[in-house]
Amino acid sequence: MLRRASNRLFALVACSVSVSACGKPLTIPEAPAASVPTTAGIDVVGPVGAHAEVPGPPPPPGIARVLEAIDPGRIRQDVDRLAGFGTRHTLSDTASPTRGIGAARRWIAERLTDAGGPARRWQVAMDPHRAAADGRRVTRDVDVVNVVATLPGSMREAAGRHYYAVAHYDSRRSDPLDAEGDAPGANDDASGVAVLLELARILADRQLDATVVLLAAAGEEQGLLGSRAHAKARAAAAVDVRAVLSFDIVGDPRMPSGPPRIDGIRLFSEGLPAGPVDNAALRLQGAESDSRSRQLARHVDMLARWHDAAVKPTLVFRPDRFLRGGDHTPFNELGIAAVRFTEFGENYDRQHQDPRREGEREFGDTAEFVDPQYVAGVTGLAAIALIHLANAPSPPGDPRIVALELQHDTVLRWTTAPEPDVAGYEVVWRETTAARWEHVQDVGAATTITLPWAKDEHFFGVRSYDADGYRSEVAFCGVERAPS
Ligand SMILES: [Zn+2]
Repeated sequence: MLRRASNRLFALVACSVSVSACGKPLTIPEAPAASVPTTAGIDVVGPVGAHAEVPGPPPPPGIARVLEAIDPGRIRQDVDRLAGFGTRHTLSDTASPTRGIGAARRWIAERLTDAGGPARRWQVAMDPHRAAADGRRVTRDVDVVNVVATLPGSMREAAGRHYYAVAHYDSRRSDPLDAEGDAPGANDDASGVAVLLELARILADRQLDATVVLLAAAGEEQGLLGSRAHAKARAAAAVDVRAVLSFDIVGDPRMPSGPPRIDGIRLFSEGLPAGPVDNAALRLQGAESDSRSRQLARHVDMLARWHDAAVKPTLVFRPDRFLRGGDHTPFNELGIAAVRFTEFGENYDRQHQDPRREGEREFGDTAEFVDPQYVAGVTGLAAIALIHLANAPSPPGDPRIVALELQHDTVLRWTTAPEPDVAGYEVVWRETTAARWEHVQDVGAATTITLPWAKDEHFFGVRSYDADGYRSEVAFCGVERAPS
């Protein structure tokens, strides 16, 4: 029996489905500088150039039409309306029709329902979780109520896969226990909720293979209560949550100095997954920067460049900012790929501050400092990522470097993705010191390939694509080696 390095990093979708090309080996000869067709009919692109992992063909044209529908005017209205509830503190009033977290969540649920049109395409539900007083940020027992909108996948084989966009709709003041005074929370995080609402509108008439979930979470400011309860409940129900994109503080591109960063956003991802990690396998391969969360971040980054998105991410190889947390973390803690989007130049006078003026200095998270055009760009990035994730097949299963003997070539193997619309696979690779995938090779329906560059100096991964050109995230190649 062969022994494979086992590690949660490498744990991928198990698959026993075969296609006709399964197991047929392809060998790619050493390529000179130029592209060379091989006997297998594959153009081999040499390991030259940087950041060439973007697919060769143009991106699926349908996405551009979706992006055209994004409306900064609606985003402006949504942020203003959410800030207009006065406070959305998790322990604030729930009975008032105009003020407090109860009014806010009912309004969010109505907007999500409306977005689905007469056919009610979004399944909208309140998702309550009882939080007991803890003597810290929960001063009394309270219902932490998330608002969840679900667009069921249209492909039987893919509908069980769930892809999340998350934002939190609760807000806070300087004193995290003050549930009475104004806490407009326009940027933190009405901006993220506005992304969810606009996504609901522009995706409502799309047929997506897999299921998309929009989670407007409560209790974030009291300790990630809503997202943690939701993530645990979904895990207990064995829901297959594949990826989580959290949008938190995504509304103000201005910087402490210099011009605003209107075309960029930080994208945080963990390198090592939470929970028990097989250190031996990690050390063997040097794979401490290849968790599924990090592959998700790299995937969003690649898609943004492929689609030339108005707002492109800057990858940050760190789970979050210092001294702060977010709703991606509870998913990470359960071993789920989850990443966080946050603007660059966070203004701490505007976060978690009572609205007030001290001399020339203005405090408070008010709506006038949210730029709807920038939020529209972030929404576009979110839509690109979600549409690809939900429409692409799963990544291939169990991809690995076959390291059975000393040789200079690299042999890769994987198993097919289970969806019936798989059109082929792409191998990606990068030098061990590179942050992003650097090269791509389309290998068609093959599930084994020999590449003429050394495994010692590279990392490898494989992704799936369908006939429309939607790409899955990359599955990182583990190692298959002889028993020691
Ligand atoms: Zn926040």
